[in-house]
Amino acid sequence: MTVTVAEESIETRLFINGEFVESENAKTFDLISPKTQEVVARVHEASEQDTNRAVAAAKAAQPAWAALSPDQRGKYFKTLATLIREHDKEFATLEALSMGHPISSYFHGAACAKIFEHYSEAGYGVQGTSSVNTPGFVNLTFRQPYGVVAAIIPWNVPLLFFGKKLAPALIVGNTVILKSSEKAPLTSALLAKLIQEAGFPPGVINVITGFGNVSGSVLSYHMDVRALSFTGSTRTGRLIQEASAKSNLKAISLELGGKSPAIIFEDADLDAAAAATQFSIQTTSGQTCMANSRIYVQDTVADRFIELFKTKFAAVNIGDPTLPETNHGPLADKMQYDNVMKYLEIGKKDGKIILGDEPYSSPDGKGYFISPTIFIETPEDSRIMKEEVFGPVVIINVFKTEEEALAKANDTEYGLYASVFTKNIDRALKFAKGLEAGTVGVNCTSPLTGQDTPFGGYKGSGIGREGLPNYSLDFFLETKSVLLKLDL
Ligand code: NAD
Repeated sequence: MTVTVAEESIETRLFINGEFVESENAKTFDLISPKTQEVVARVHEASEQDTNRAVAAAKAAQPAWAALSPDQRGKYFKTLATLIREHDKEFATLEALSMGHPISSYFHGAACAKIFEHYSEAGYGVQGTSSVNTPGFVNLTFRQPYGVVAAIIPWNVPLLFFGKKLAPALIVGNTVILKSSEKAPLTSALLAKLIQEAGFPPGVINVITGFGNVSGSVLSYHMDVRALSFTGSTRTGRLIQEASAKSNLKAISLELGGKSPAIIFEDADLDAAAAATQFSIQTTSGQTCMANSRIYVQDTVADRFIELFKTKFAAVNIGDPTLPETNHGPLADKMQYDNVMKYLEIGKKDGKIILGDEPYSSPDGKGYFISPTIFIETPEDSRIMKEEVFGPVVIINVFKTEEEALAKANDTEYGLYASVFTKNIDRALKFAKGLEAGTVGVNCTSPLTGQDTPFGGYKGSGIGREGLPNYSLDFFLETKSVLLKLDL
């Protein structure tokens, strides 16, 4: 049975100062379903003036919000988490309609609720230090909010990023403007409705949507935004860093793209390695920052591994993301599809395609679908080996020695995630140490991440770390030294 949402019930306005408002110039953009290629909703696009109003609302609301105790702030989080869980199916359906994520594997709502629940109790843990090491002084440090902060998120897992950025920012007393992605704005707008229902004071959370140009750029250059947490492409990350440098040197956290390698040694459990690596590149139809899009397999087991991998990758259930049996939906939009198609042409020219040369065609002939695709024997300097494809496309190349595998894995400007499959503990630790990535999986791979380990990128994959216990909180806090000169 296909799930639908009545168009008139979909919220598409901006949430500024506690109210839903149309864009000031009445400008909207069409959100197109990647499955039907029809208009899902006409979404209000934030103008420069709308974005400035959101920042002004956050600025006005911040002193009173910061003056609350952590448990007073946390009370709103608990109510919000409950509401998110109650609307999980609606979130899943909206994401399936807007960016094609299959409802069968939708987890974003539950993850977001869990994050708000966690941080609802985290505020009192934020503390400074004291020292009596200087004669005649008691010295202190205070951890204090920046004031107004911004979050800019991508479309692939929107509610997860909504929670990961807003919960730590808010619990320590910042107020926030979140800009959702123009490709997946509907779940953030529904979440704004729940924020209103949970009773957050007006202006504490403002949710706008629109394109990088205008609203994303206005936030990045805004003089009243003191910190900006961004998740998205490396290209946009560079622009945001430049905007920070050219405006007020706002603190920035950048979670960017990846070209993650997985290395399979001959002593690995090949079946388990094939299952884990194919899930990594197939989940969300390959549109995951940390997907292992490059696999290096030892020559002695290459044929067996490739066969195992191919069998699993070919077995996906591709189709309508609103159907419960589907586990492989379309790509997010035409731009994403065209981009992947371009890389497929490069791959066919430079390497050898062994799965995916027959394009998937949906029963109605519509939709931005890409079948699981495998290339082998691809030169290391091919663009498809170097650039982020962001689709269900993997390259499997062969290596002979440890040195060769490590050198090839690290020969990239990205460094988000890397993995190694081996039963040899010395080799596992040698690779854990040598791989240039923010996360290394040993006998496991992405999207697995640690609950209480930091997440972020080496090299062009980002700046900063997010996560528990304090990585995300630290980003949203200034540290002040207070020197008390006393007659002791
Ligand atoms: P994107 O960079 O195109 O867009 C991300 C967000 O930035 C959107 O909200 C967009 O409107 C906004 N934006 C675009 N131009 C801007 C500008 N000039 N100034 C300010 N904001 C601007 O990325 P995307 O296509 O939405 O997402 C896919 C990318 O995100 C991939 O590269 C993926 O690897 C990366 N990603 C990284 C992580 C991570 O945790 N490291 C997680 C998910 C996605």
